[in-house]
Amino acid sequence: MIYFDNCATTFVSESVRAKLIELTDDLLSANPGALHKLGNQAAGLYEGIRQETAELLGARPEEIFFTSCATESANTAIKGFMSRNKRAGNAVISTRTEHKATLECLEYLAKQGYEIRYVKVGPDGKPVMESLEEELQKGDVALACFTLVNNETGSILPFAEISKTVKTLSPVTVIYLDCVQALGKLPLNLTETGADMASFSGHKIHSIKGNGVLYVRKGVRIDPLILGGGQQDGMRSGTQSPVLAGAFLAALKEVSEGIDEARSKAGEINSYLRRELTARGAKILSPDDALPYVLNVSFEGFESETMLHCLEIYNIYVSTVSACSAKQKKVSYVLLEMGVDRKTAANAVRLSFSRYNTMDEAAEFINAVDAIYEQFLVK
Ligand code: PLP
Repeated sequence: MIYFDNCATTFVSESVRAKLIELTDDLLSANPGALHKLGNQAAGLYEGIRQETAELLGARPEEIFFTSCATESANTAIKGFMSRNKRAGNAVISTRTEHKATLECLEYLAKQGYEIRYVKVGPDGKPVMESLEEELQKGDVALACFTLVNNETGSILPFAEISKTVKTLSPVTVIYLDCVQALGKLPLNLTETGADMASFSGHKIHSIKGNGVLYVRKGVRIDPLILGGGQQDGMRSGTQSPVLAGAFLAALKEVSEGIDEARSKAGEINSYLRRELTARGAKILSPDDALPYVLNVSFEGFESETMLHCLEIYNIYVSTVSACSAKQKKVSYVLLEMGVDRKTAANAVRLSFSRYNTMDEAAEFINAVDAIYEQFLVK
């Protein structure tokens, strides 16, 4: 099997599996809120996990909250900030190439009467700086939402430049950054990055599904999305799970090692596939300077879903648009927004790699494409 769908989800790594077995030990399964010895033990374990997670992300422990997924983190950050800071401004800035986890929150805010201003993106998938400046200069911007690495194209946000522009033209604006596809692939230090809020997802870094992280910089106030027993400093009620948080940490530790080596290995696979696919008439839609873990490619003569199923015959797994929109059989709104024509976008397939993919798999992929062209392409 060749699995090139790592932006949708990743397989669970051995270290996460081992950690899960260790943490599901009965003695550690007490409620961290319980007053007895076992409860204290679970609470200590949980706080230790929080502290190590914070260290690896370059944050303070009190800035880290465990959630069920990045979608929950995004909802908490975006809705929670706007709900708590009604006087900060009536406008939110973002782009139309964000993940649905962000876009749907913005739709929700629009229905509440907030003004959502979308910054244009260029053919490279990056926000156009003049457009950003224009939207900021209109004033009243409480929140700006961006994504560090786009999940469909691998386009990398020039965050230092963006954040400098936002903070210069609108110092009160708080920045939310979706770091889901960047984690473990780019070096990341939240304090240095300068984002005010950020989201992460465990299952994109070889953890199990059901665990994510929300970062909220000290001093930024938000309303919690989930109310209840006041766990996690009242930010996210619900009994804490050292098992899920521990799984996230185990995965984080693994992907925090050797980021540069892993990236150059992905770079080799990416360059090889770009070259070979272009030679066969396919069109590369990921920008040249995209993160090498993502390669969006359009196969003329094959609708996205047809190519996906042709590859499946060869036990190769890829995706069409982002997994969240795929079942609705939509053409990628990200590609359309970047100016890709509808026909090319309708033939787009996303290959996404993990640090564990190999050059042999890339070569096999090309062999499969040759066989598919030979068998199915109507000349
Ligand atoms: N943001 C990006 C960029 C993603 O790729 C995804 C998942 O596809 C999400 C957010 C949502 O992550 P989760 O599945 O953890 O809710």
